[in-house]
Amino acid sequence: MSNGLEGSTTAAPRPRTMSQNAAGWSRGCQIEAVNLKKSYRKGLVDIPVLRGVDLVVQQGEFLAIIGQSGSGKSTLLHLLGTLDAPDGGTIAFNGRRIDNLPGSDRDALRNRSFGMIFQFYHLMPELTTLENVLAPLMIGESAWGFFRRRRRHRSTAERLLELVGLGHRMNHLPRELSGGEMQRAAIARALVARPELLLADEPTGNLDQKTGAEILQILRSLNRQEKLTIVMVTHDPAIARQADRTVRLVDGRVETVNSDD
Ligand code: ADP
Ligand code: MG
Repeated sequence: MSNGLEGSTTAAPRPRTMSQNAAGWSRGCQIEAVNLKKSYRKGLVDIPVLRGVDLVVQQGEFLAIIGQSGSGKSTLLHLLGTLDAPDGGTIAFNGRRIDNLPGSDRDALRNRSFGMIFQFYHLMPELTTLENVLAPLMIGESAWGFFRRRRRHRSTAERLLELVGLGHRMNHLPRELSGGEMQRAAIARALVARPELLLADEPTGNLDQKTGAEILQILRSLNRQEKLTIVMVTHDPAIARQADRTVRLVDGRVETVNSDD
């Protein structure tokens, strides 16, 4: 449905439910998107995917985003994770705008503050489980810095692999692991730099129901015990029900889902 304002860049003043800081962002929230827009160009036409997404995720919250295939869930998660830039609207992390940062600042933010996991794990096939978990630290530090702290880093990685139940698979290559084990390794890798926010794109999408439930259990306890904020995309309402709150992407916008829906 079009209200004739679709392409407008001036956001109408919107009602706020929370108090704002000086910059106008909601207080106490970890990540906030305002009027986010994104289109993809196909031939000569722009196909709008996100048409004005408003989303506030509180610190320590576990939010699920559901929506049909093609509704823009991955697109939204990529924007929140600064992997891609919106065409319109803004994103703030801890009260600071992040959607317009230069590339190097975005890289640093992703490396230090965000952890990401994906449906297909994206482990490096030639590295062992332990090396895969260490990889973000190698990328995030100078060679000398990593070398000096290698023992501490190694014990952090080992502790995380124990935490996700993979202590007995540290020296295995990804091809020697099951799907559930690869996702556990990917979770440990996402956590190794102690992120504040975990962005998970269909983390159980490639797993059987039982293994998916185990992965959800790990995410649930990371959220409760480590107070990790989680934004998880899933097409499965049963998986989403285990989050604190669910929103649905419909027609390029976010709508609230009641727990009894
Ligand atoms: P979901 O994750 O909900 O399945 P996506 O965010 O992956 O949806 O995709 C939303 C829509 O945008 C789909 O129609 C998809 O084909 C399109 N799309 C996604 N990424 C691109 C891209 N890089 N180029 C062109 N179209 C894209
Ligand atoms: Mg997707």
